[in-house]
Amino acid sequence: MKDEQLLNNIKDVYRRISHAAMKAGRSPDEIRLIAVTKNIESNIIKKAVEIGLREFGENRIQEAQRKISDFRFQISDSDVKWHFVGHLQKNKAKYAVDLFDLIHSVDSVELSQEINKQAEKNGKIQKILLQVKLSDEAAKHGIIKGKYIDLIRAVSSMKNLSIEGLMTIPPFFDSPEMTRPFFRELRKIRDESEGLGFRLPELSMGMTGDFEVAIEEGATMVRIGTAIFGERRK
Ligand SMILES: *Cc1c(COP(=O)(O)O)cnc(C)c1O
Repeated sequence: MKDEQLLNNIKDVYRRISHAAMKAGRSPDEIRLIAVTKNIESNIIKKAVEIGLREFGENRIQEAQRKISDFRFQISDSDVKWHFVGHLQKNKAKYAVDLFDLIHSVDSVELSQEINKQAEKNGKIQKILLQVKLSDEAAKHGIIKGKYIDLIRAVSSMKNLSIEGLMTIPPFFDSPEMTRPFFRELRKIRDESEGLGFRLPELSMGMTGDFEVAIEEGATMVRIGTAIFGERRK
């Protein structure tokens, strides 16, 4: 990808974020852009850092290990943050704790126990989001609504975890408007949880196809790959 294309894409995404925020009466500063870099090589990610992006999302541990180590040695002075947005297997939890500032995809008590254990070993308070599954697609990960309250109660008692908020991935639709009820539902779950005394400032929702709708419904983090880096090679 040409440098100029990347710059234009990033500008365009920020413009769209600002527009959606203002349309919803929100400040654009309330929304963090997480650039999803799965399948994108480190040289391109470095260009995105030069342009000014600071937060990146990966969805596979092995790929992230390789890329993040490229940065540890070469961009030591910047405050680049990494987010884990993919499904996490328990046996990879220790690598996730090593590598990531925020894990977006915690969806079971067993997984949270393992992350807590690894974080304790590392002397780290691991920031996490709880991933909630709001559709009945068989393939999607996430805790179902009926089990969510038990999960948040259990995780709240784990000393080395800090729950920052909630994440969801709605089903794919051709029309972004169709995703609105899912984003609204996540926000409602957040608000109800806050009523019970849980503090959940972050809502990670919205991707290339639907981030403007997500922002209108309260997203504080949008996870965007394609609109920044172009179509991924399969
Ligand atoms: C790939 C991915 C994204 C980014 O998707 P785009 O449609 O390319 O913007 C966001 N979130 C998760 C969890 C992903 O796996």
